Amino acid sequence: MRQSSSPSTACDTQTSSILSLNIAPAQVLRGTHAIQQAGEAIAKLGKRPLLVGGDRSLSLAQTTLEPVLKQHHLEFASATYSPDCSEASLAKLREKATHHQADCIIGIGGGKALDTAKLLAHQCQLPIATIPTSGATCAAWTALSNVYSDEGAFLYDVPLAKCPDLLILDYSLIQTAPQRTLVAGIGDALAKWYEASVSSGHSEQTLLIAAVQQARVLRDILLQKSVTALQEPGGETWREVVDATVLLAGVIGGIGGAQCRTVAAHAVHNGLTHVAASHGTLHGEKVALGILVQLRLEEMLQGNQLAAAARQQLLKFYSDIGLPQTLNHLGLENITLTELKQAAELACHQGSDIHRLPFHVVPEQLMAAMVSTTVPIGEAKIKA
Ligand SMILES: [Zn+2]
Repeated sequence: MRQSSSPSTACDTQTSSILSLNIAPAQVLRGTHAIQQAGEAIAKLGKRPLLVGGDRSLSLAQTTLEPVLKQHHLEFASATYSPDCSEASLAKLREKATHHQADCIIGIGGGKALDTAKLLAHQCQLPIATIPTSGATCAAWTALSNVYSDEGAFLYDVPLAKCPDLLILDYSLIQTAPQRTLVAGIGDALAKWYEASVSSGHSEQTLLIAAVQQARVLRDILLQKSVTALQEPGGETWREVVDATVLLAGVIGGIGGAQCRTVAAHAVHNGLTHVAASHGTLHGEKVALGILVQLRLEEMLQGNQLAAAARQQLLKFYSDIGLPQTLNHLGLENITLTELKQAAELACHQGSDIHRLPFHVVPEQLMAAMVSTTVPIGEAKIKA
């Protein structure tokens, strides 16, 4: 889940200023082999699409999307977003779009490919279709892009003018992705509840109440259906869980808007992206660990017993589906104290969403929480 930390699309909740929301894509086409049925909808967006994706997704596109584009006589070109959704990649892609005289963008791939394609379309003011190739994030839905360094360190997010014009959710394509991507998507989508209930749980505003309740429903669907879904890829329950991670997670971001923000789980993710050894792990895997760290902070600094119980419940769930419970599980068994401190300081920087917690957090406390995610309830209590 990604939500804006920039106030530019939000209104001041205390005044009656104008609220601008980007709730959903204009059209969602969903189904097995949905791409094959999507030609007409894509052709309405433009005649000269630029396909933006990673190497794997662009090669998948050759046998799935490209025949559909040819059938509709669309003059397309392809470009990779490599090395990352970074300023340098975007500059290259803007040149490519101009050179091709692109009149629409099609993003195909995982979260970073889609973030790049959406931001490119936003910068070039072109219509955009998104085609997720995994259930790892809700990036296909949202009006937000995360920008990283060429090395993959999170830098900032950009609120976009609108959600995509078209989202094509093709289950047969998603099924080709490694199972691990959907597991990560479950972790990212779970964070909606743990973060939205903290940032917006006390709101009296109708749409925020709705967003937080949807986040709770999303969590319950994931807790109930994920194990079965992962045992039967492509099955009915698996499709429901894909809908949860790709679509419902996006709905919550859309209804909640910029006020329904991320909190500590994503702040921890952002900090960890600056540790090179974490780059082999997925966004949702780092966020999943971030949820445990957030609960640990609530437990340690607030004496919050509900957070302690929630953490125990999640630890069991994580072990059932294979989400990381510790830094070691994220491949960070050799992280140095200096690196851990750097990640914690980045996560605690001024303006970080971690400060949306109802208590103050300093890097030393965050480090203590990051290394004690599996501690049994009632032990290692640290009072603020
Ligand atoms: Zn996320």
